[in-house]
Amino acid sequence: MTKILITEFINQNSLDNLKKKFDVNYNEKLCDNEKELITIIKGYDGLIIRNKTQVNSDILKNAFNLKFIGRLGVGLDNIDTEYCKNNNIHVQPATGMNADSVAEYVVSSSMSLIKKIPMFHNGTIKGEWPRTIIKSAEINQKFLGLIGFGTIGKKVAEYCSKNGLKILAYDPYVNEINTKLSSLNEIYEKSHIISIHLPLTNETRNMINKSSFSKMKNKPIIINTSRGNIINESDLIDAYDKNIISGFALDVYENEPIESKFYNKIKPGMNCILTPHISGVTTESNIRVSDFIVQKIIDFFN
Ligand code: NAD
Repeated sequence: MTKILITEFINQNSLDNLKKKFDVNYNEKLCDNEKELITIIKGYDGLIIRNKTQVNSDILKNAFNLKFIGRLGVGLDNIDTEYCKNNNIHVQPATGMNADSVAEYVVSSSMSLIKKIPMFHNGTIKGEWPRTIIKSAEINQKFLGLIGFGTIGKKVAEYCSKNGLKILAYDPYVNEINTKLSSLNEIYEKSHIISIHLPLTNETRNMINKSSFSKMKNKPIIINTSRGNIINESDLIDAYDKNIISGFALDVYENEPIESKFYNKIKPGMNCILTPHISGVTTESNIRVSDFIVQKIIDFFN
């Protein structure tokens, strides 16, 4: 019988459906145990992961029977896709299945940060009444700059344009008929909100850095739901401290889980929102993502 290994959380109903077809080993702790994974991977035909399991060449070299990797999410930077391609291992992301969840996160964090909700909250719970000291604003007719205009970038554009934002999008790899694409410099110069929707590649690593912040003219809010290493975290804090940007929402970090060398720089009165890589994870998206990958793996082995 075809053997499937699952190393991170999956929706229970989807798991039950998978078990009707295959011999399934579900162990959520395996994502943190590379040694064990290297030892047992040889017995499996299929592997299902999220973003914590590092499917590197050390693991893949021992995966003699592996033919399918299902990714319960989108980014593939934790998988050695080159090795998979050369060794006939099919890699299947859950493209688009969590895009609504991420887009809603971008809309809600943009609204909160433009309105300075984290600062008002912090002042109010300390017994202060900062009604006039903190200046808030509306998002209507402000510019939203999207860096990366793929599945999620387009979804964010759709949600945000309905809320009155004017969209600028940078993506040299798409030819858009409906949206005029902008240059990166135009995004830096005009945007009041900048949201990043890129894969992590050699080209995008450290792409938003000191030089990028120095070109920002409208004290934008920065939102990163893509991958932490795309923004230089230390340059981001520096830009906030120098009032070059007016706030930030981060769902992803250079190191995950977040490390003290970064979170110690976050002070209570700052206009920021930090979340633990959850923008794509909601009750609804977990069902969609899990059902999608389960169906793909069933189709693949049929
Ligand atoms: P996608 O592949 O549909 O879109 C990515 C876009 O980035 C593509 O259009 C591509 O052309 C563009 N791009 C690539 N390199 C570029 C560059 N150097 N400059 C400008 N544009 C470039 O992916 P998606 O579904 O929109 O997801 C985007 C990223 O979001 C994923 O790669 C993943 O890392 C991340 N993500 C995070 C969460 C979360 O929970 N935080 C959830 C889903 C996705």
